[in-house]
Amino acid sequence: MQPYIELVRRYVYRRVLIEFGDDELGKLAVAILNTLLSRGEAMTDDKLTSIVGYNAIDVRRVLQALYNMRLASVVEEFSESAGKLEQSWSIKDEDIRRFMVNLISGVLDKIDALMRQLTSTTVYICPRCFKRYSEDDALMYDYRCPLDKTQLEYVNPAEYLAILGAIEARLKRMLESVSRGAP
Ligand SMILES: [Zn+2]
Repeated sequence: MQPYIELVRRYVYRRVLIEFGDDELGKLAVAILNTLLSRGEAMTDDKLTSIVGYNAIDVRRVLQALYNMRLASVVEEFSESAGKLEQSWSIKDEDIRRFMVNLISGVLDKIDALMRQLTSTTVYICPRCFKRYSEDDALMYDYRCPLDKTQLEYVNPAEYLAILGAIEARLKRMLESVSRGAP
């Protein structure tokens, strides 16, 4: 999984940054990911909090976000020493693998839909906000993006299909290698 960890780090950072609008929480998410991967054991939020050196509330919020992304796993056990139920979090190679497979499959689906749209219809794109418009819509808006008044550009399907085809092929190879469990 090593070649993909950096990709997962960047993705997690951005997702958490977007979700909470806080750069520090993005960094915290990467710190938690690194800690759980390098220790290779399940850890309670208390233990994680003391290792990463952030406050406990933020650690819990980020752990929940990592769980919602289906990246972190959690088990709940009764702790004799603490005398209460405790949650232990972990991120294993298998979690990274499943996460990557989901991520790549999601992107492949989007590329597939886009390729089908490009082959079946004329598409215009706004070069400023990248919103796409059908021929009818473009005509209705007088070939200007209604959001920012920028002149729409005609998308040359052949050019885009070639680029998308190349990306698709690369992602499929990546998916194959991830599914095979390349170390
Ligand atoms: Zn626009």
